[in-house]
Amino acid sequence: MKKLAIIGFGASAIGFLKGFIEDRKNEKFIVDVYEKGENIETSGFGGLKYDGKLFISKEMGGDLEIPLNIQKKVVEYYLIKSGYAEKKNNGTLILSEKLERGNSFENEQLYRKFYDAGFEPIISHFFHLGTDILTETVKNIYKEFLETKNINFKFGEEVTKVLPSEKQVIVISNKSEESYDNVIIAVGRRGHKLVNNLVKDHPELVLSNDKVDLGIRYELPNHVVEDLNKEMYEFKIRLKTKTGYIVRTFCNNPSGEVTLEKYDDFVTVNGHANSDKKTHNTNFAILVTHSFTQPFNDPIGYGSYISKLSNILAGGDKVILQCYEDFKNSKRTKKLGRVEPTLNPNFYILGDLNLALPRRTIESIIDFLERLEKVIQGITYPDNLLYGAEVKFYANKINNEHFGNIKIVGDCSGWTRSITYATGHGYIVSKNIE
Ligand SMILES: Cc1cc2nc3c(=O)[nH]c(=O)nc-3n(C[C@H](O)[C@H](O)[C@H](O)COP(=O)(O)OP(=O)(O)OC[C@H]3O[C@@H](n4cnc5c(N)ncnc54)[C@H](O)[C@@H]3O)c2cc1C
Repeated sequence: MKKLAIIGFGASAIGFLKGFIEDRKNEKFIVDVYEKGENIETSGFGGLKYDGKLFISKEMGGDLEIPLNIQKKVVEYYLIKSGYAEKKNNGTLILSEKLERGNSFENEQLYRKFYDAGFEPIISHFFHLGTDILTETVKNIYKEFLETKNINFKFGEEVTKVLPSEKQVIVISNKSEESYDNVIIAVGRRGHKLVNNLVKDHPELVLSNDKVDLGIRYELPNHVVEDLNKEMYEFKIRLKTKTGYIVRTFCNNPSGEVTLEKYDDFVTVNGHANSDKKTHNTNFAILVTHSFTQPFNDPIGYGSYISKLSNILAGGDKVILQCYEDFKNSKRTKKLGRVEPTLNPNFYILGDLNLALPRRTIESIIDFLERLEKVIQGITYPDNLLYGAEVKFYANKINNEHFGNIKIVGDCSGWTRSITYATGHGYIVSKNIE
C-alpha cells in the first residue's frame, strides 16, 4: 500500500488531494495530512482565510503554466463547494445571482483609457466569494476529504523536518516521526522555514530568488472608484514608472477593510472584503517590484527589514498610516481628513512612511498615482490614505525535478501566488505521482 504525506492543508494541498483521489478510486493508499493549525478553523492562511477572489488568467497568479481548462476546473470546484454554483446533470454550471464576478478590461473603452495613459491593463476573469463564504467553502471541502477513506488529518502537527532518502522520506513533526513513499510539501509562504531547511542542505534545489514587492495599501472612498468597481470589481494594471521600477495594483477590495498580516516577527498590511458586511471605502495595494542582482541574494530579508522598520516607527506590532499629500511632501500626518480608516485604530499610528520606505520606492508610488489621476479623477485627493508597509515575498523558485519522491507545491515552491494557481499546481503534480 502506497503511503503519502501532505504537509499543510491550504490551496495547493486541496488541489493535490482532489487530483489524487480522482484517479485512484480503486487503488490502495494512505494519505496523512499534517496541518499545524489546531483544527480546520485555525488552519490555512491568506487567500484561504480572507476574501477569496478566484481568478482565471494567463497573465497573473503565478509563474508556471496552468492550462486554462485546469484553472476553470479549479474555480468551478470552489464555486460548487461555496454553494454559489450548481452543476446540472447535463454538465452545465448554474451560477447564483448573488455571486460577485466580472471580467477585467472587457470594456474596450476602459482598456484604451488606461492604455493611452501608459498603463498595461491585465486581463482576467474573476469571482469573489468573500471572507465569510470562503470559510464555509473550505469547511465543505474538508468534509469531502474527511469522508474519503484513507485520508487522515493530523491537525496541530507542525512538521519541523523532512529527511530525503532514496526510497522512503522521513517526516518529523512536533508529535511524531513517520516514513512515507512520497511527501508533498504544501506549506505556503508562511511555511518557508521548512523549505529553507531543506534547501540549505540541497542548494541545487533553488532555481532563482531575486525579487520582492514592496509598497503600500491605498484606501479611498468608494465613490471615487465606483465606476471602475462596478465595471470590473478588480482592476489590475502595471506601469513602468520614471524610476524604471514596475508598479502594479493588487487585490482591489470595493467596500472592503484594511487588515494586518502577521508574520513571526513583524506585521504588514493587507485588505479583504466580506460578502455582506460592507464599508464605504475601497482599498487596494500599490506594489513596486524590486529585483536584485548578485552578490545580494536576500530579498526576503530586505522586505522583512523594511516591514520591521515600519513597525519600530509605529511603536510595536502596528503599521504606519499617512495621508497622500503628507506622503508626497515627506511630512508626518498628525490629523486625518475626510476618509475614515477601516483598519482597527489599535493597529496603526499616524506617521511618515518616508522614514521606512526607500526613496526609489516612494518616487515610484507617487509617479504611479499622479499618472493614474489622469484616468481616475480623485485618486490623488490629499486625504486619501496610505498604510505601510505592504510586502509580497516571492519564495525561492524550486526545481521539483530534483527529488523524485518529494514535491514542493504552491506558494512555498515560488511558482504560485494565488488560490487558482496553487490549487492547479497541486492538481497537476498529483497526476505525476507514480
Ligand atoms: C491576506 C491574504 C489575502 C489573499 N487573498 C487572495 C485572494 O483573494 N485570491 C487569491 O487567489 N489569492 C489570495 N491570496 C494568496 C493565496 O492565499 C495563496 O496564494 C494560496 O493560499 C497559496 O496556497 P498554498 O497551498 O501554497 O498555501 P496556504 O494556502 O497558505 O496553505 C499552507 C498551509 O500549510 C500550513 N503549514 C505551514 N507550515 C507548516 C508546517 N511546518 N507543518 C504543517 N503545516 C504547515 C499552514 O498552516 C497552511 O494551512 C491572499 C493571501 C493573503 C495573505
